[in-house]
Amino acid sequence: MSVVRIEHVFKEYQLGEQTVHALNDITWSIEAGVFLAISGPSGSGKTTLLNLIGCIDKPSSGKIFINEEDVSEKSPNELADLRSRSIGFIFQTFNLLPVLSAAENVEYPLLRRTDISAEERKKRVDYFLDIVGLSQFANHRPNQLSGGQRQRVAIARALAIKPAIVLADEPTANLDKATGREILSLMKKINRHLKTTFIFSTHDQKVIDRADRLVQMEDGCITAFGVRNEMDKTWNLARVRALPESDDE
Ligand code: ADP
Ligand code: MG
Repeated sequence: MSVVRIEHVFKEYQLGEQTVHALNDITWSIEAGVFLAISGPSGSGKTTLLNLIGCIDKPSSGKIFINEEDVSEKSPNELADLRSRSIGFIFQTFNLLPVLSAAENVEYPLLRRTDISAEERKKRVDYFLDIVGLSQFANHRPNQLSGGQRQRVAIARALAIKPAIVLADEPTANLDKATGREILSLMKKINRHLKTTFIFSTHDQKVIDRADRLVQMEDGCITAFGVRNEMDKTWNLARVRALPESDDE
């Protein structure tokens, strides 16, 4: 089953007089359980695409299905509800709330879930802080933690709702190489053990090579799909099409 399905999605931004075509006719479906990298140069549309999949933003046209549910027509409230049940987010700059402890940050997305009791919340916080190896740091504030530890808190926070999908926008870009590797290994371990679908953007080849699926982007288009060969770890790349001719000059 596909966990995300995207049909002819376009996204335009208006910048004064200028229209920016951030995504041009994206059609794609993502199988549940994959560990998938979106690669491409800065400005190619990675963040825009992740924001649309995450229902933080809406396409200008086209449809997006999450678990085969059409999200294009949903109200902001319905989208917030869907996010709080199905989608975990990890950001480049961690985005933890500075006044909350690690445990409180992990608990935070659970607070809008009226179906989850206080007791269950506490269980999940303990469980996911343990998974990311931070049980002893539960009462630390973000400024008392290293970058790598902050990103681990962010991973625990993303997982606390038990999401179908975790979206991570350049999750290692603000970390040193060794810490970035650790964070990626942790994400991969969680992907394998909990079967959570991970979709992350990056332009770091080392990070790309840890993925098992790849989508390459350029100028708002998907230019190639990749599947990693389990035997020799090389990429099987299927190029999609040439970039469309520029028609605006
Ligand atoms: P990436 O994450 O690959 O660097 P983005 O999705 O951030 O790419 O951006 C794609 C294109 O859309 C870029 O040309 C960028 O300048 C433009 N863009 C992104 N967000 C906005 C916005 N809020 N307003 C106007 N243009 C934007
Ligand atoms: Mg980006």
